[in-house]
Amino acid sequence: MSKEVFSEYLKFVEKHGVRAIACRKCDHIFCYSNEDPKEFARVKEVSLSSAGGLYYDSDRFLFRQFYCPECGTMFGNDVAEKGSPILWETKIDKLGVEN
Ligand SMILES: [Zn+2]
Repeated sequence: MSKEVFSEYLKFVEKHGVRAIACRKCDHIFCYSNEDPKEFARVKEVSLSSAGGLYYDSDRFLFRQFYCPECGTMFGNDVAEKGSPILWETKIDKLGVEN
Protein backbone atom coordinates (compact mmCIF):
# COMPACT_ATOMS: atom_id res chain seq x y z
CA MET A 1 0.00 0.00 0.00
CA SER A 2 1.34 3.44 -0.93
CA LYS A 3 2.23 5.77 1.94
CA GLU A 4 -0.25 8.26 0.43
CA VAL A 5 -3.18 5.92 1.06
CA PHE A 6 -5.07 6.48 4.32
CA SER A 7 -7.75 3.84 3.73
CA GLU A 8 -9.64 2.21 0.89
CA TYR A 9 -11.57 5.47 0.29
CA LEU A 10 -9.31 8.19 1.76
CA LYS A 11 -5.81 9.42 0.94
CA PHE A 12 -3.19 11.84 2.21
CA VAL A 13 -2.57 15.03 0.25
CA GLU A 14 -0.46 18.12 0.89
CA LYS A 15 -2.32 21.32 1.84
CA HIS A 16 -0.39 24.50 2.64
CA GLY A 17 2.74 22.47 3.40
CA VAL A 18 1.09 20.00 5.79
CA ARG A 19 -0.60 16.66 5.31
CA ALA A 20 -4.35 16.54 4.92
CA ILE A 21 -6.88 13.72 4.40
CA ALA A 22 -8.90 13.74 1.17
CA CYS A 23 -11.45 11.62 -0.67
CA ARG A 24 -9.76 9.27 -3.16
CA LYS A 25 -12.70 9.58 -5.57
CA CYS A 26 -13.31 13.36 -5.80
CA ASP A 27 -10.29 14.90 -3.97
CA HIS A 28 -12.51 16.67 -1.40
CA ILE A 29 -10.28 17.63 1.54
CA PHE A 30 -11.81 16.61 4.88
CA CYS A 31 -9.25 17.85 7.38
CA TYR A 32 -5.59 17.95 8.38
CA SER A 33 -3.98 14.57 8.98
CA ASN A 34 -4.02 14.97 12.78
CA GLU A 35 -7.81 15.36 12.75
CA ASP A 36 -10.56 12.75 12.34
CA PRO A 37 -12.18 12.79 8.86
CA LYS A 38 -15.35 11.34 10.40
CA GLU A 39 -15.86 14.66 12.23
CA PHE A 40 -15.97 16.41 8.83
CA ALA A 41 -18.14 13.86 7.03
CA ARG A 42 -21.84 13.77 6.26
CA VAL A 43 -23.14 11.36 8.90
CA LYS A 44 -26.24 9.21 8.54
CA GLU A 45 -27.61 7.31 11.54
CA VAL A 46 -29.79 4.30 10.77
CA SER A 47 -31.22 1.32 12.63
CA LEU A 48 -29.02 -1.73 13.14
CA SER A 49 -31.28 -3.94 11.05
CA SER A 50 -30.58 -1.77 8.00
CA ALA A 51 -27.00 -3.10 8.09
CA GLY A 52 -28.18 -6.58 7.20
CA GLY A 53 -29.33 -9.79 8.74
CA LEU A 54 -26.58 -10.04 11.35
CA TYR A 55 -28.03 -7.21 13.46
CA TYR A 56 -31.27 -6.76 15.38
CA ASP A 57 -32.75 -3.33 16.12
CA SER A 58 -31.92 -1.87 19.50
CA ASP A 59 -33.16 1.08 21.58
CA ARG A 60 -29.59 1.65 22.72
CA PHE A 61 -27.44 1.21 19.61
CA LEU A 62 -27.49 2.44 16.02
CA PHE A 63 -25.45 2.25 12.87
CA ARG A 64 -23.50 5.37 11.81
CA GLN A 65 -22.44 5.77 8.20
CA PHE A 66 -19.85 8.35 7.12
CA TYR A 67 -20.01 9.88 3.64
CA CYS A 68 -17.90 12.31 1.63
CA PRO A 69 -19.97 15.55 1.60
CA GLU A 70 -18.87 16.24 -1.98
CA CYS A 71 -19.40 12.98 -3.90
CA GLY A 72 -21.36 10.84 -1.42
CA THR A 73 -18.87 7.96 -1.21
CA MET A 74 -19.31 6.06 2.07
CA PHE A 75 -15.88 5.68 3.67
CA GLY A 76 -16.70 4.28 7.09
CA ASN A 77 -19.36 2.92 9.40
CA ASP A 78 -19.66 2.18 13.10
CA VAL A 79 -22.06 0.49 15.45
CA ALA A 80 -22.46 3.12 18.16
CA GLU A 81 -24.44 3.84 21.31
CA LYS A 82 -27.06 6.53 20.65
CA GLY A 83 -25.70 9.97 21.60
CA SER A 84 -22.14 8.74 21.98
CA PRO A 85 -19.22 10.65 20.41
CA ILE A 86 -17.78 9.53 17.09
CA LEU A 87 -15.14 6.85 17.57
CA TRP A 88 -11.74 7.95 16.26
CA GLU A 89 -10.32 4.72 14.85
CA THR A 90 -7.17 5.90 13.02
CA LYS A 91 -5.23 8.64 14.77
CA ILE A 92 -2.28 10.22 12.95
CA ASP A 93 -0.03 12.33 15.14
CA LYS A 94 2.37 13.52 12.49
CA LEU A 95 1.20 16.64 10.63
CA GLY A 96 4.26 17.34 8.48
CA VAL A 97 4.69 16.08 4.94
CA GLU A 98 7.14 13.19 4.53
CA ASN A 99 9.46 13.42 1.59
ZN1 LIG B 1 -15.60 12.43 -2.42
